[in-house]
Amino acid sequence: MLEYSYSSLPWQIVFGVDALDRLPEEMDQRGLSHALVLTTADQAESGHNLLQSLAHRGVGLFSDAAMHVPDDTLRAATKKAKALGARCTVALGGGSTTGLGKALSVNEGLANVVVPTTYAGSEMTDIWAVTADGRKVTARDVRAVPNLTIYDPRLTLTLPPKFAAASGMNAMAQAVVNVATHKPNPMVRALALEAIRALAASLPRIIADGADLDARAAALHGASLAGAALGTGSTGLHHRLCHTFGGTFNTSHAQTHSVLLPYVVAFNRDAIVEATDSVAQALGSNSAAEGLQQLARSLGAPSTLKELNVRQEDLEQAVAVTLEAPIDNARPVDAHALSNLLQHAFTGDLADL
Ligand code: NAD
Repeated sequence: MLEYSYSSLPWQIVFGVDALDRLPEEMDQRGLSHALVLTTADQAESGHNLLQSLAHRGVGLFSDAAMHVPDDTLRAATKKAKALGARCTVALGGGSTTGLGKALSVNEGLANVVVPTTYAGSEMTDIWAVTADGRKVTARDVRAVPNLTIYDPRLTLTLPPKFAAASGMNAMAQAVVNVATHKPNPMVRALALEAIRALAASLPRIIADGADLDARAAALHGASLAGAALGTGSTGLHHRLCHTFGGTFNTSHAQTHSVLLPYVVAFNRDAIVEATDSVAQALGSNSAAEGLQQLARSLGAPSTLKELNVRQEDLEQAVAVTLEAPIDNARPVDAHALSNLLQHAFTGDLADL
């Protein structure tokens, strides 16, 4: 008999082509002012333009956001926010920039506006992180959830196809692990299945035509749903492995998700056959793992650890780091099984997993 509990997060979203034009008005409605705009160095010019458009609502720009929120970056942003009397941040960018806004929100109590430009989906989760001494520490805190998210698909048009593919597979992973799980939640599953369908249909269209705004919108919507699934759902072996490779071997976040997902899905399948087959169905494939691997390859996203410059001799260390803490996973994970999984992911072989 159906039985579950579910807690939502306080999302406030405006989604649509040219939604960015509504940012000043939406901020006024919520009493948000004294905004420090956040970007990476790559997106500084867009940040400058955004600051101009905020007029009296903006106090300055911090354009040094970096992957995984390094603690020195957070310190520098905090200093600038205090010096300028900022009361809120407007993070324009991908998960790295969103992450900085979240950390400032939790640590300094600044209100938090996010304008996502990738498919990371971080704006829909309560997960925040800071990296110090090479160690990324993540936690869940509802204060990290943005006070306002503006999704404007037009902003994703500049995302290079190769990165759009990997970022889209990052979103796909957030959804897939919340369907192919031993602890399914019907609410999360509904979000996740719709995310899988939206991403599987739209990502190939983006690769075929990067200027297809309709496909870009569908992918951004899929990423938002996937983030919502991650934000109110759970993570398991897949996210632990991504954390290991990102943290220990500095592999790119989105690409690592893209590579590992099919192998983790294949590894878990026998323990959760029905749930895994639901993923296959949503993908329109006979096999979830093969469907995911084929999708990644057709998009030009990486599908082996080799492509991430991981070396054969790194795998043993990856196994040890991954097993440092217990993992809540559909199938029990030990060193032998994990080593076998990583060997498959290294060469791109799904057979006999
Ligand atoms: P990113 O934010 O690091 O962006 C990668 C690069 O692409 C940056 O240089 C950025 O400026 C540029 N870029 C972004 N959007 C662009 C656009 N539209 N056009 C051109 N260039 C653009 O990459 P990401 O994958 O979005 O985020 C990765 C980070 O997000 C990681 O630190 C990861 O841990 C975190 N993350 C967190 C969560 C969460 O729930 N907390 C979820 C997903 C990802």
